[in-house]
Amino acid sequence: MTVRTRFAPSPTGYMHIGGMRTALFNWLWARHNNGTFILRIDDTDEERNMESALGPILQAFRWLDLTWDEGPEIGGPHGPYFQSQRKPLYAAAAERLLAEGKAYRDFETPEQIKADREAADKEKRPYINIRRSLELSPAEIERLVAEGKPSVVRFLVPRDRTIAIDDAVRGHVEWNGALIPDPVIVRTNGVPLYNFASVVDDVAMEITHVIRSEEHLTNTAVQALIFEALGASFPVFAHLPYVAAPASKEKLSKRKLDQYRKNPSFKKMFDRGDSVFPKIGLGGQGGLDPVMVEYYEKIGYLPDAIVNALARLGWSLDDHTEIMSRQTIIENFTLDRVVKNPAGLDPDKLFSFQSHWMSALPAAMKDDGCIPYLVKAGLIALQADGTVAPDVRLFVGKVVAALGDRLKLFSDILDASYFFTETLEYDEKNFQKRVAKEGVPALMREFRARLAETEDWSPTNLEAVLNAFATEKNEPAATFIHALRLCVTGQSVGPGVYDCAALVGKDRSLARIDAALARLG
Ligand code: GLU
Repeated sequence: MTVRTRFAPSPTGYMHIGGMRTALFNWLWARHNNGTFILRIDDTDEERNMESALGPILQAFRWLDLTWDEGPEIGGPHGPYFQSQRKPLYAAAAERLLAEGKAYRDFETPEQIKADREAADKEKRPYINIRRSLELSPAEIERLVAEGKPSVVRFLVPRDRTIAIDDAVRGHVEWNGALIPDPVIVRTNGVPLYNFASVVDDVAMEITHVIRSEEHLTNTAVQALIFEALGASFPVFAHLPYVAAPASKEKLSKRKLDQYRKNPSFKKMFDRGDSVFPKIGLGGQGGLDPVMVEYYEKIGYLPDAIVNALARLGWSLDDHTEIMSRQTIIENFTLDRVVKNPAGLDPDKLFSFQSHWMSALPAAMKDDGCIPYLVKAGLIALQADGTVAPDVRLFVGKVVAALGDRLKLFSDILDASYFFTETLEYDEKNFQKRVAKEGVPALMREFRARLAETEDWSPTNLEAVLNAFATEKNEPAATFIHALRLCVTGQSVGPGVYDCAALVGKDRSLARIDAALARLG
C-alpha cells in the first residue's frame, strides 16, 4: 500500500503557521513512507479571487520546499484538485446515497427546524432533527421538487449504532449515533458541504491517512459514516493537537494579535517586522503578522529552521533532541510520537532554531540570502541583467563574514547598512557619551591626522596604529575604539572596529570621521 496524505486548505489569502504545521506532518508522513503528498483546495466558496487567495499558500509551500506530488499547477491522476471543479463527482455521490436510501431530500423549513430546536432546549434534551420528510412518498417528493420547493440533502445517520475510530493520536474514539443530527450534505443551492465533499474526495483520491487538526475530530463521526455509506474503508485518522497561543491553552489566532504583542517573546518578533518591513518597501507590518508563514519568509528566516521548529511543535524524536535536519526528521517521523497536548508557538524558541541553522549555513548561501534585502533597501543595485556585479558580491561576502554569528536573520544585514551608504544613522545616546565627551573631539582630530598618514589599512595594522596612538596620548585604547566605531559606523555595536574601518576603506573612513566631528559644531 502506498501512503497517500493530503492537506486541504481553504484559500484564505495567507498560510497560518499552525496550518503549516499540519501540512508539514502530512508531508513528512508521505516522505517517510516514500508515499504521495497531495494538495487539495477546499474552494467550495467560489466568491474568492483564487490568485490572491491561493497564491500565498502555494508560496509558503514553495518557500519551505515542501513539494506536493499531486495538486494545483501540476495536476495528477486524481484531478482536478480544486473542489470547485469536482461538482459532478459530489452530485453523483449524493444521487447514489439518495438512491440507496442512505440520504434523503429534506423539505423542512428553517422556521420548523428552529422550532424543533427550541422545543428540545426547553425539554433539556439534545436536539436531533425530526425526519418528517422521510414520511413522504416518492411521488410526493417528485411533486415538491417539480413545484420548486426548496430542499437539502441530508445524510441518514444510523441512530442505533455506535461509531468508532482508532485515531493514530487520540486512540479509540466513539460516538453515539442516537445523538447525531442528520447532517446536510448538499445545500439547497446544490453546493456540497465540507463533511461530504471531503470524504468523496478522500475516497476518490485514495487517501490512506487523514492527518488534520483536532478541531475536526467532531466532524469525524459523520465522515466515518459517509466513508461506510460510500462503500469505502476508513483511512487512518490522526488528529493533531492545535498550535497554541503564547502563554495560553487557546488556539493561535489572527484575531488575538493585539494580545500577543504584549507577550515578550512575540513582541520581539513584531518589533523585528516593524523595523525591517518599512526598509524593504513593505509599509508598516506589510499586512503581515507572526501568525502567517510569510512573516518569517519576509524577515529572513531559513526554511530549515521553520521546518525544524514546526516539526518540534507537537512531535518529538526522543526526550531531548531539538536540532534536526530535514532528512533526520523525515527518517524518524512517525505518528505515534505526536503528542496529545497543544504545543505553544514560542518565537524565542523559533529564533534559537534559526540561530543554529544560520550558523550552519555555507557562506555563499548567507550572501545569497542577504543580497535581496540590500537590493530592496536600495543599498546595492543590480546590474541591467538582474545580477549582482562581482565586486559588489565580494564586498557583501566580506561584510557577511565580518558580521559572523551576529547575522541571525537575513534581514540582519540591514543593521549593517553603514557599509553600503554614507547616510549614517547615529546612535545619538552613545555618540554623545563616546564622541562628544570632553577632550575626545580634540583627540579624534589628532588621531584622524595619524590615520591619514597610515598607508596599510588592514585590520591588524589599524589596531597597532590605534594602540600606539593611545599609549602616546596616555589614554585607554577604549576611548579611541568606541569613538572610532561611532564615527565610522554611527553605531555602538557591530563587527570588530578594525574590520569595520578596513571594510569601509581609508578615504570613506576619514570622511566619516570628519562628518562626525562636524556634527559637534
Ligand atoms: N479545509 C479544511 C480545513 O482547512 C480541511 C480539513 C481536513 O483536512 O479535512 O480545516
